[in-house]
Parts: sequence; structure tokens; C-alpha cells
Amino acid sequence: MVGKAPAMTGEPEIDPSRVTARLAENPAFAAVREAAAGMPAYVVGGSVRDALIGRPHLDLDVVVEGEIEPLVAALGGEATEHERFGTAAVEVGDAEVDVARARAESYPRPGALPDVRPATIAEDLGRRDFSINAMAHPLSGDEELLDPHGGLADLRAGRVRVLHERSFADDPTRALRAARYVARFGYELEDETAALLRQADLGDVSEDRVTSELARISREERPSAALKLIAEWGVLDLGPGPRLTAALERLFESSAEWREYADPAIAILLAVAPGEHPQRLRRRAAKLARHEPPASPAEVQVLAADHVPAVLAIARAAGADWLDDYVARLRHVELEISGYDLIEAGVSQGPAIGRGLNAALAAKLDGEASGYEDELRVALDAASD
Ligand code: ATP
Repeated sequence: MVGKAPAMTGEPEIDPSRVTARLAENPAFAAVREAAAGMPAYVVGGSVRDALIGRPHLDLDVVVEGEIEPLVAALGGEATEHERFGTAAVEVGDAEVDVARARAESYPRPGALPDVRPATIAEDLGRRDFSINAMAHPLSGDEELLDPHGGLADLRAGRVRVLHERSFADDPTRALRAARYVARFGYELEDETAALLRQADLGDVSEDRVTSELARISREERPSAALKLIAEWGVLDLGPGPRLTAALERLFESSAEWREYADPAIAILLAVAPGEHPQRLRRRAAKLARHEPPASPAEVQVLAADHVPAVLAIARAAGADWLDDYVARLRHVELEISGYDLIEAGVSQGPAIGRGLNAALAAKLDGEASGYEDELRVALDAASD
């Protein structure tokens, strides 16, 4: 397969001598470099990759050979430590700096979480998913790019390549990550990586780990492109997920009301997430999508009001366009009366109050009640039934 050279697609040229200048565009970089003076600390992973291709990258990933505490203390920020791996997230101004101790990993069995031990930066780069993510930029001393796995050449060729042939066996979720990078950057899978990936078996991986990679995909600009690849590569059976997410993308792109009502990433994740609960919610959405278009606004309200926004978005993407009226208008309709008005008028507390208010709302939505007096009359009628 021939990769696209990013320099030919109008993106900034890949020039390692400009990495420092591009990293310096990150608001935390100057503070991190000052704090790390004299320490064996490195900017790594996506921060370096994006600096090379000239894409903004909000967070800064830093790896230290040895204890991380001196750097965290020198940064002086609020640190949230995640003990298991010796990592800390530090707020520096508006940016988040992720500091981690350099580590090596070994996999007790495929798909399991790895055993971890402290290591050198070289070993740390060697445990990473793809060559384009396995480069490091030293924060002190000679600032020459560390690129032991040919990441720069792969970036230039537009290629996603694993570091060794057991990579997908160790961690099959890397197949999902590969789809994310291929879709995001318009890259190709390197040939051997493509062959290895066909053997990636996500069957032994926990639903949580699969869901967390799918969640990263759902936050991409074009999640459906990555999901389509995952289905094409046969690494995960997503059913109608890719088609549904493409329809969700079109919905959110064309409607500010839907964007405001339902979180696009949550709806897209729900369209593909594994597990019983997501499946149950998808069945509800499918049932709504099959429903006859309701005859009145009140009926739309009754059908829609029981569901969370992501379920309604999926139902809409699957064809229930009568939900547009609910999202744009009906859900904002409020009664002028409240339960207190009914109690004051003599209705006793209990289900009669809800019955009355529902009847008033239905009448208002259908244009059969307007104003306080009308609403109260309809509600009292229904409450006394
Ligand atoms: P982006 O989504 O832009 O790549 P990022 O690089 O910060 O952002 P993360 O998913 O946070 O992406 O991962 C950080 C780094 O950790 C990656 O660049 C990669 O080197 C490494 N990494 C993450 N997940 C894995 C994995 N499953 N196997 C090996 N390395 C991984």
C-alpha cells in the first residue's frame, strides 16, 4: 500500500528541526521545560507526533526516567496521581500535563492489562502502539528527536505501523486505535501491520476496554470513518453501527437544535458500544424508529419524553423525523399551572396531580388549551376522573 505524503496534501511540512518551536506553541511547554531542566525527561507520544505534522495538541505527555515527584513538585501545579503506573496529571495554566514514569510492560495473557516495571525511555518507546506514537523529544540536554522505530519515516509516508509482530496479540484494542489514526489522518496501514491486524481477536478483551477505545473514536471529528474501517477489517462486529453513526453525524451537522439537545459523542458511542445496557437502549431507539408517525404533538411528547437524548438521536438518525418537532419546540413547552395550583383547588396529593398536569400539557401541545384558566380547567377535569 502506498501512503499519502502529508506534505503533498497541503499540511505543514514534517520538519524535525521545527519540533521545539511547534511544541512551544503549547501554553504549558515553557514551564515544563524550565521545571525539567537537568532531568531525564521527554515529551512523548501524540504531543511529538502532532508537533511534527503541525497539528495543535492540547495536552502535553511527559515521560521521566525514574521518580516523577521532582518534576511534579517543580511544576508546582495541582497533581492528581494515578498510583498504579506512577503517573500524574498536572494542571499548568490552561493545559494539562501528563507526567509518567518510563516503564516497560509485559502481557500476562492476551488482552489483559499489562504488568509494569520501571524502565528506560528506549523501553518505554518500545511498548507503544505505533511507530508514529513512539518518538520522544528530550526536555534537557541535546534536543535531538529520539526515533528508534522509524516513526518519522512512517509519518512522512502516511503509514500506521506496529513495532513488532505480537503487538495486536498483546493488546487487541490497538486494532481500534489503528482505525482511529488511519481515519483521522487519512493514512494507510502498513502491509505487515494490515496482515497482523486481521488476526487481532477482541473476544478476550473486557467490554470496558473496548468501550473506552470506542469512546475515543466517538470524540473524533468523523467517528463513522473509523467505525467503517473497524467493520471492514472485521475486528469487531458493529452491526448497523457504522451506517447509523454516519446518519448521526449528518443529523448533528445539519441541526444546531439536535447538537444542543444530545451530546453527539454520547449518541455515537451508544450506537456502537458493546454490552447489555447499550443494546437495550438501541432496541428502544429502533422501536421508536419503526413507530408510525404520531398523529398529534401530544402523542409525540408522550412517546419521546420517556427516553434519554441519545436514544432519541439514534431513533431520529434511523428515520423518526417526527422527533424534530419534539427537540425544536415541544420539549420547551411549559405549563403556566403547577401541582400547587391543583392542590389549592382541592385535589389531594397523589397520582391525580400527575394525571391532571399531563392532560393539561397534552391539551396545550395540541392547541386545545391556552393560558392559566384553560390549563387549570383541563387539569381539574382529568384529576377528577
Ligand atoms: P491522540 O488521540 O491524539 O493520539 P494521545 O497520543 O494523547 O492522543 P492517548 O490515547 O492518550 O493518545 O495515548 C497516549 C500515548 O500512549 C500514545 O501516543 C501511545 O504512544 C501510547 N498508548 C496509548 N494506548 C496504547 C496501547 N493500547 N498500546 C500501546 N501504546 C499505547
